[in-house]
Order: sequence, then C-alpha cells, then structure tokens
Amino acid sequence: MNKTLTTLSAALLTALVLSACGGGGGDNGGPPLVVDAEGVSTFDSTALGTTLVALPSETLSLAEQATLAYMSEEEKLAHDVYVHLASLWGTSVKTFANIATSEATHTEAVRQLLLRYNLPDPAASLGAGQFQNPTLQALYTQLAAAGGPSLVEALKVGAAIEEIDIVDIQAALVNVDNQDIRLVYENLLKGSRNHLRAFVKALLQQGVTYVPQYMNPADYLAIVNTPVERN
Ligand code: ZN
Ligand code: ZN
Repeated sequence: MNKTLTTLSAALLTALVLSACGGGGGDNGGPPLVVDAEGVSTFDSTALGTTLVALPSETLSLAEQATLAYMSEEEKLAHDVYVHLASLWGTSVKTFANIATSEATHTEAVRQLLLRYNLPDPAASLGAGQFQNPTLQALYTQLAAAGGPSLVEALKVGAAIEEIDIVDIQAALVNVDNQDIRLVYENLLKGSRNHLRAFVKALLQQGVTYVPQYMNPADYLAIVNTPVERN
C-alpha cells in the first residue's frame, strides 16, 4: 500500500514539475477534478497545474496562509485514516482504498498551492498517522480507533471525516478571496460531498441510515439527496 502511494505521489510530482515548467504544452482543458461513478473524486494534477498557472498571483493574507497549513494536514488525515481502515476492512469493501487514493491527490492539490506561495508543507516529512497540528493528531487517534470494531463503525468514520472536511473547508472559504485557493477549496468541497454520498450509500448497503454528527441536518440532506456531482 505504501509503495503504491509513494509511486502515485512520484507520478503526481512529475506531472506537477512538467506543468510548472510549461512542459508538454498540450491542450489540457479538462476539469481539475475527475469523478467516477461511485463519486470517488480525484484531482488531475496536470489539469490543475494548467488551471493554476493561468490565474493571477495575489497577495496571501495571514488567514489564507493559516488555512493552507491546516488543510494540507486535514487532507492527509483523511488519507491516513482511510489507508488504516482499508487495512482492516479492505476485504469487505473497496471504498476505503479507492477514496484513500483520491485523498492523496487532495493533499497534493493543497501542496501545489503551498508551492505557488513558496510556503513549506507541514505534512511533508510526516509519517502515516503523524501530524504537526495537535488537534488533528488527536482526531486521527480517535477516528482510527473508532473504525476498529466493525465495518459499519468504520464507514461511519468515513462519513464523519467528510462532514468535518465540508464544515472546515466552508469555514476556511469565508477568509479566502484569492482565486487559486478558492478554486482548489471549491473542488475539495465537491470531492468531500461526493465522498460523503459514497460512505452514506455504503452504509445503506449495510442496512444503516447515517445520522450526521457535524453538519446541520438540512445541509446534510441537501447533499445526500442529490446525485454524485460529475462536473
Ligand atoms: Zn479530501
Ligand atoms: Zn474525501
């Protein structure tokens, strides 16, 4: 698993470097976020790089900078928890492994923003399940343990993570006006809505109706009662 993810990161980095150097010059007019039938939402690193290069450089506020650092680690948290849950429940469902792979591209998308602003990535040299932010470190420990007892509990952890992501990205967007950051966050948000739908559907297949724990019920229902967003 780790080897696969390392290979994936290397491929993404290569694509990023190529796009940053203007290499290829191909017509990459595709959307930055690619969504499959199950709702698994993956950034196309090259398409994102092309889109970002076309946007203006803007001044970064301290609030915007703080959201970048947090979001980098929060997307890593989703990835690391799903890798852990895939190791426990991967023989029953593919949901965790599929979404973990896409979360690696979410972290990478935030890293593209950090690179654009010449900022260090707080998640760069951290191992699986390790975080600089103590709140996220505690959340990882709590959620990884909560997914242990059963597949249903693990799927609830998945839905909870996507709820938390939605709430946090929406809060971050209030303080963000730079076009490049908004573009990435809006796509992260769309990805989280799709992942929430995927986990809620997987729970229904286990005979369980998920009850939201972090979002207000109206916002939650508006998402799960609408289809996967495929651009
Ligand atoms: Zn994500
Ligand atoms: Zn997600």
